Order: sequence, then structure tokens, then C-alpha cells
Amino acid sequence: MDNQLDVAPCGYFSIADSGIIQSINQTMLTMLGYERNELLGRHIESTMSVTNKLFFLTYFYPYIQLYGHVDEMYFSFRTSDQQDVPVLLNGVRQSRNGESVIDCVVVIMRKRIEHEKDILNTKTKLQELYQATHEANKELERLHEEYKVKQQALMKVNDQLETMASTDLLTGLKNRRFFQDKMLENLALFRETQRPFSLLVIDIDHFKRINDTYGHPIGDLVLGNLAGLLQSVSRITDVVARYGGEEFVIILADCAGEQAVATAERYRSQVASADWGEYNITVSIGVATVTQEDTDQSLFQKADQALYASKTGGRNRVTLAAEAASSDINPS
Ligand code: GH3
Ligand code: MG
Ligand code: MG
Repeated sequence: MDNQLDVAPCGYFSIADSGIIQSINQTMLTMLGYERNELLGRHIESTMSVTNKLFFLTYFYPYIQLYGHVDEMYFSFRTSDQQDVPVLLNGVRQSRNGESVIDCVVVIMRKRIEHEKDILNTKTKLQELYQATHEANKELERLHEEYKVKQQALMKVNDQLETMASTDLLTGLKNRRFFQDKMLENLALFRETQRPFSLLVIDIDHFKRINDTYGHPIGDLVLGNLAGLLQSVSRITDVVARYGGEEFVIILADCAGEQAVATAERYRSQVASADWGEYNITVSIGVATVTQEDTDQSLFQKADQALYASKTGGRNRVTLAAEAASSDINPS
């Protein structure tokens, strides 16, 4: 036999149609643990277990007779010490020197099976890893959802806290803190746009008498009702707040001078003509329109001085700051 074929990296043998081994290479002999003379001239079936013999007879022979070749047949040969060697077997039937022979090559499958095991193991590990990642992702999603719900609840609480922090408890109006923030906002806007705004400072006339006559709880009730009335008269852009005690403030956006006085007059007359039961409630109002020189404090001072003028002028009236020194607007 050609030396290259003899030591080729696959087993090789050829058999006659009868199954008698005619030639066999060294690789195949080493694989099966035989000497060449032990197998040459013997039947190939002597290297098979009974079951494999049966398979060989019922599959290999008929197939190769019919089609002339067998490709990639999974098979097992039995070694001289009775071990089964899994192999891949290719056979082709051809004619040589006028005789029909079957040439076969054999590749050991053990390695492949081990490789397959490795691949299978890796695949299983990958699947486990994928499953773990998938579960971790699901947990992350769940935590994210939980976080979103909690964040929304927190935002709601924050909103409530913010509302509480800017609301006057007794009247439900905005409180002094909110008003002061709005003053600064309006001042900044005025400096940017030159569109003036006005401030009304409103004080209940002789309110002490209400408390003294009817008691503090009734006084509280009046404060609440007056707050509701002021709010109902206001436009959406007006900021109505309780400044403290029986004093209220209103910021009139985009409103100046006489227009602010007319608005203040509307508030004053609505209070005076409202039905307060057995007592009369009136308010005095000071009006000031912002100027370039004003700060929040100076604007408030101007309106407060105008309010003082309304008080000294007889109450239940409106005074515009610029005219506070000379006359009030609405003698009643
Ligand atoms: P004027 O016309 O000069 O403003 O007279 P006035 O009585 O309204 O003014 P004064 O400042 O003398 O009295 C204000 C009163 O308002 C005294 C105080 O008891 C009362 N007051 C302040 N805050 C509250 C409150 O929250 N509830 C009640 N019921 N009364 C209050
Ligand atoms: Mg007062
Ligand atoms: Mg008062």
C-alpha cells in the first residue's frame, strides 16, 4: 500500500462484495488494535459487535449495492480488546482490475462527540446566562416601575407641600410668602417688558369692632367670606393674597394708574354692597403702580401709604399712591 495512504489521518480499508478485507491501512489497524496479518483476508464483520454487524448487513450492504456509495454513516467498530469505537464511515463501490471492491474511509467520532459535548455545555451555560440576564432585566424593569410610582407619589406630596406652603390656612387664599415671590416675579417681568403692574393693599375698616361685638370666630368667618368675595371679583391674572391679619393684597398684572384705581373701586364697591347680615363690612384700599425706581418694598410702601390716606380720608375708599399726599380718589 502507498505509504501516504497507510499513515493517512483516517482509517482506510477495502473489502470485496463478500465482506473479506482486501487491504487496510495502518491508521485503521492502530485504531482497532490489530496487526495487518490478523485482519487481511478476514471478514470485516469480525471487527463489529453483533448489533453493528446486523446494522451493517441490513443497511450498508443493500445501500451500497443500490447506490454505489454510502456517505457519513454513523457506525461503531470493535477493537481487539472489545471496545467500541464510534466512527463516521464513507464507502464507495467501484471496479478495480475487473473486480468489484468497496473502498471505505473511517474517521473516529470520539473527538467530535467530545467537541459536541463542549458545544452543548457552552450552549447550556449561555442559555442559563441569558435566562439570568432576562430575569435581572425583568427585576430591573419592575424596580423602575416601582421607582416611577414612588416618584409620582413623591411629586404629588411635593405639590401638596408646595400648595400648603403657599396657602393661607384660614382663608384658603395665597399667603404672604407666595405674594412676595410674585412681587419679585412681576418686577423682573416689568423690567424686561416695560409693561407696568399695580398693587392694591386692602384693609378691613374697623374690623376690631366685629371681633369685639361678635367674637373672634365670627371675625374669622368674615375674613373667610371676604377672601372668597375678593377671589370671585378677581381676574385670572390677578394674584389675590392674605398679607396678614385683616389685610389683603392684590397684584394686577398689566394694569396701571387709573385702570388700577377702577379695578380697586370694583373690589371696594363689591365688598360694600355685599350682604354681610346684621353688620356692615367695608374696606379701604391703597393703590400703587410700579415705576422704574421701585423695589418690591418701595412699591408696597407706596400702596400702604395710599391705604393710610384712605383710612384718614374716612375709610371705604380707594387712593392712588401718586395722589396719596394730596387727595383720595373716591370720597364716599
Ligand atoms: P381700621 O379701620 O383702622 O383698620 O381699624 P381696625 O379695627 O380694622 O384695625 P386694627 O388694626 O385696630 O384692628 C385689626 C383687628 O383685626 C385686630 C385683630 O384682632 C383683628 N384680626 C387680625 N387678624 C385676625 C384674625 O385672623 N381673625 C380675627 N377674627 N381677627 C383678626
Ligand atoms: Mg390692619
Ligand atoms: Mg383694619
